Formats: sequence, C-alpha cells, structure tokens
Amino acid sequence: MDKKTKILATVGPASDSVEILEGLINAGVNVFRLNFSHGTHEYHASTLAKIREAEKNAQKKVGVLQDICGPKIRVGKLEEDFYLEVGDKLYFTKEQIVGKKFDEGKYELCINQPQILDMLREDEYIYLYDGNIRARVIEAGDKIVTEIENSGKLSSNKGVNFPNTVINIEVITPKDKEDLLWGAQHGVDFVAVSFVQSAKDILNVRKILKEHKSRSHIFAKIEKFDAVEKIDEILEVSDGIMVARGDLGIEVPYYKVPSIQKRLIAKANAASKPVITATQMLLSMAEKEMATRAEISDVANAVLDGTDAVMLSEESAIGVNPIHVVEVMANTIRETETIYPYGKFEVYPFLDETDIISSSTARLADRLGVEAMISLTSSGKSAKKLARYRIKADIYAVTHDERIARSLTIAWGIKPIMNIEASNLNMMLGKTLQKGIERGLIDKEKTYIVAAGYPAGVEGSTNFIRILKKAQIEYYTDMVL
Ligand code: PEP
Repeated sequence: MDKKTKILATVGPASDSVEILEGLINAGVNVFRLNFSHGTHEYHASTLAKIREAEKNAQKKVGVLQDICGPKIRVGKLEEDFYLEVGDKLYFTKEQIVGKKFDEGKYELCINQPQILDMLREDEYIYLYDGNIRARVIEAGDKIVTEIENSGKLSSNKGVNFPNTVINIEVITPKDKEDLLWGAQHGVDFVAVSFVQSAKDILNVRKILKEHKSRSHIFAKIEKFDAVEKIDEILEVSDGIMVARGDLGIEVPYYKVPSIQKRLIAKANAASKPVITATQMLLSMAEKEMATRAEISDVANAVLDGTDAVMLSEESAIGVNPIHVVEVMANTIRETETIYPYGKFEVYPFLDETDIISSSTARLADRLGVEAMISLTSSGKSAKKLARYRIKADIYAVTHDERIARSLTIAWGIKPIMNIEASNLNMMLGKTLQKGIERGLIDKEKTYIVAAGYPAGVEGSTNFIRILKKAQIEYYTDMVL
C-alpha cells in the first residue's frame, strides 16, 4: 500500500534539475515548494517548467506550493559583526543607519520596519538571528534601548522577532503582490502566506488572487504567537495551514512548539483542511547522509499527530542528497502508518450535512474493509471530508479538472485520478472503474465504495453511495464498452 501522509520538498540548487525532480517524485514527493524568499521570477519559472516535465515523466500528479516571504523583519547593514555579550546595550534607532559599536559594550542599529519600534514596551523581548540572541527592552521611547541576555554574534540583515509584541504591520508586502501575480500567471496550486496575524491577512490574499483570476488554494503559515491565538478565525478562511516551526519556535517558548503542533493539527483535521508540518524535520541530512534518531521520531510523531503532509526545506533545497532524504522520510512514514490509529470516528463534530454523509460512508467502508473509497468530486471537498476519518482504505478522488486533482496532492490518503467528463453519473462511474482496472487500481475481486453527488456538479451534495463488488463493477463497466 502507498503511504498516506504526503511529502513536500523545497526545490533549490541541489534539486532543480528534471532528473532529480523525477527521482524525488519516484521517492515519494507529492508537492514541491518554491521558496520566494530566494530566487528570481525567471529562476522559479524555469524550476516550475522542470517540475511539470518531471511530473509527466514520472506519470504521477504533483502539486506546486508558492511560499511568499511576507514582511520578514531584519536588522540593517552593520559596519562589522557585533560580538554581543551579556549585559551589553543594543540601541535600535528609527533612522536608517549603518549599525556600529559606538562605545564600550554599546551598539546601535536599525531595522527594515522602524514603525515597529513605536509598539515596543519595557520588559518586552526582541530576538535576533533566528532567536539566537535575546535582548530585553529597558527603555522604550524615541530610541529603544535593550540589554543583551545571552551572548552571540550578529551580522548584517539577520532576522528579528518580537515574541511579546502585537505588531500591526501589513502582511502582504509590495514584493508579495508581485509574487502573487506571478503565481496566478503560472498556475501554482497552493500559496503559503508567511507571518499571518489574523483572518484579515488571508482575506486580503484571497481578494488579490480573485482579481488575478487565480484558483490557488491558500495556506496560512502559523508562525506568530498571535496567529496561534487566532487559529480558529484563520482556519475558517484558509484552505489549509502550515505549522511553520522555524519562526514559531522563536515567537513562542521552544517547549510549547510540540503542544501547539498537536493542537493546530487537531483543529485542521476537525475542519477537514490539510495541514503541513514544516521545518527541521530531517535537518542534519542537509549535511549528512543520515538523520538523527530524534529527527526520525519527529517525522513519525507528526504522522501520528495526524498531519496531512511533512515538509523538507534545506534538506531538499541545498542538501547533500535530496533523493535519499525523501527515501528516509517515506520509509519512516510507511513504517509509522503500520501503527496508525486509523478510523477516527468519535473524534470530530459534524459541521454540516456533508460531514454526516461522509462519516457514514467512511464508517461503512471501514466496516466492510473495502479496498478504496471512490469519491467523484467537483471541488475536492468531499474527498477531504472522507479523509478526515483517516480510514485505512485509499481514497480515489476522481475529477475531470486537473487543478482540482493537483489541489488534492497535499491531502492525507487521497490519490487524485483524472477522468473525462461523462454525460451522466452511471457513465462517469463506468469510465472511472474501467480506467481503474486498466491502471491496476481496481481489482474486480475486491470491494469498493463510491460516493458522489447526483445530479453532478452541485458542490457539497453527496447523496449517492454504492457498494461495488464484482457484479456491480461489471454492470457499470459494461455500460461504457
Ligand atoms: C518556518 O518558519 O518554519 C517556515 C517554514 O518559514 P520559512 O522557512 O519561509 O522562514
């Protein structure tokens, strides 16, 4: 049986050839991530073309996620590196200056979004360089004076986080707007929005995408402490979320990351919305041939938490052996799925009528021990609703829309299958089964269950459930002969 939990791999210099991309797909990648914090539009366009070529060669649908970088806050340029010691004073100025040491144990610098400095209060913390340096605000005012609480080296343009401060800044930057237009023109399947603070940010992206006639699904990256607090409203308006543990681990105390991960995954699962667990999953494999035991356990635990997908960043973008990383991840997933708590029927509330129907379909499929549930779906939603119960049978999501098929590449347990439109439901089912037999996905000796909306094309109207054994499979396939 194929693995259920999906793999996202970030593409970079170590993986941006057709040959390696094809190897990555064959090793288990379902979605490629284009990281717009790096690279030009030309670079991403050429990578995207290679992904589509590799997809064709591998004969397996893959999705593409565009990760827009958002308002990453950075320190400005420094005259030279600062070697900060505990007790040193670091001054943040609102003017754009080149940072320098101006007295013994005293340094000054600026940040690229100086308006944030007005929002800081005494005793709040500023973290620098991926959280490596902690500074406490001791004076808030025209200049922000901080005291360094742990030593470290700071160089130009390093990231800054404000884990105690609600910073009301525009989440969609002018660069993001250009990148969103690029994504719309190039038909990316998913857009991941960085540093989301509230539902409003996602609604803004949705408006921009609508103006560009884009059909991309929007994923909110949960990496700010205020996004964790507002997860319900964010989830409500997003198509999925990413637990972006890199920045999240700076924004919240490090020891809270695992419990937040579990909570976010549970909420996304309940809403039938895909969730990605990201960052440092197999990080040591960026430089080494093997991961640590702890990293392997991290992947396994994310799978058991219920994540839809696990993500690779540096490991596949600049790592020494991207294909091997994916093999390690896929092997870990497959083994973990042998002890998976399948059949989560008691856990979720019914949010709408379709939940009642999909729960019954999945329960029936589980009890009958069917080989696969077949979902004839126009938007992909009903397939995702079936996936919420995490039953052992595969989910074949049959659609005639390639964009919908690709939007399902990220969702747990779903195998998107393309079919051509048919004049009625019986013909559609007949063609689906016929094609499934030809591709070795359907075995007449086994049992399947199909769920569909009748008449076709009305979203959220699953009202047709059939159990298919040999006689029924032959009945429907005979129709299209
Ligand atoms: C993260 O912070 O975990 C993340 C995925 O975001 P990025 O790598 O874009 O900083």
